[in-house]
Amino acid sequence: MHKPIKPSLFSLDYQDLIQICDELDVSPVHAKKVMGKVFRYGAFDLENIPDFPKKLLHWLQENTSLDLPEIIANQQAEDSTQKLLMRMADNKDVESVLIPAENRMTQCISSQVGCAIGCEFCLTATAGLTRNLTAAEMMQQVLVAHRTLGYFPRNIVMMGMGEPLHNYEHVAKFVRMVTHELSMALSPRRVTISTAGLVPAIYRMLDDDLPCSLAVSLNATTNEVRNKIMPINQKYPLEDLLEVMKKYVGQRSKKRILIEYVLLAGINDTMDDAKRLRDIALSLGSTVNILPFNPFMGSRFTRPSDEVIDMFRNYLNDAGVVAVVRISKGREISAACGQLKTEVNQRAANLKLQRSKTS
Ligand code: SF4
Repeated sequence: MHKPIKPSLFSLDYQDLIQICDELDVSPVHAKKVMGKVFRYGAFDLENIPDFPKKLLHWLQENTSLDLPEIIANQQAEDSTQKLLMRMADNKDVESVLIPAENRMTQCISSQVGCAIGCEFCLTATAGLTRNLTAAEMMQQVLVAHRTLGYFPRNIVMMGMGEPLHNYEHVAKFVRMVTHELSMALSPRRVTISTAGLVPAIYRMLDDDLPCSLAVSLNATTNEVRNKIMPINQKYPLEDLLEVMKKYVGQRSKKRILIEYVLLAGINDTMDDAKRLRDIALSLGSTVNILPFNPFMGSRFTRPSDEVIDMFRNYLNDAGVVAVVRISKGREISAACGQLKTEVNQRAANLKLQRSKTS
């Protein structure tokens, strides 16, 4: 008979821990100690917490698990970017990427196994959605990073596998956990949710005052083009997306939205595209990350030439928009945006290609 899997201790936030202390009739100060031990220092030896009540220790040991996912692959690129493939308790594999930059480590977190959004230029999309990840599983990715690096990353971007706002409840809990003052205490500016444009969920972020930053994967400046490369646009067209982006910037006056723009040769890389993007970026006060497409087998898109990429960026810069070309770190290990879970997804992409050739 299988032993039942215990819930992860990493699913407990401060309020949950306070409630457990209350039910066990121990001081809530011990909830703070657990937060500090596990989520601030990444240490799991609860038995070594000074003056820790035996009944709380026993309860946590009996009812929760401190298990972390196994790392089944750790690929390191020349630029020191590391792609970690982790196996979750149900044998589903999830990738997380550690990206070093100057004096700060950034971790790119996955929020789902696969993705249902179906952006045409995205390798992750090819296998569809398997399931959402829980807040505990996102926290586990961060704790595995701590085990790997010896310290916590100071920047978190939710740009791995999945659409974070499609898994709102768990992502919101995770965001509140990593920004909590007793936990890693990350600044909300250093935790970024990237969305393909789930308009109602952006309104919800506003209503909930979620302590994080927002990036929008825009990728096109007309409905005609966006409909072709991002099916989500048929449900939430550009005008609705731009309206909520304006509200977001207006309501949270100190907040900015980062615009991400995957540059696809012959699709969205003309000077007219650049002009419309300029207008959008200036109206929102947004910075633009230009991400030249990373080709993968079976994709119908290609990367624009370096001249086109430079022209596009220079046009925006000359027009007063801060636009940066992001050459994806770790390209040789497919750690770029929209290229996670490569091995499985590449097989799915190949199958799709074969089917389209035979039909
Ligand atoms: S780009 Fe992001 S939202 Fe779009 S399919 Fe890929 S993982 Fe999903």
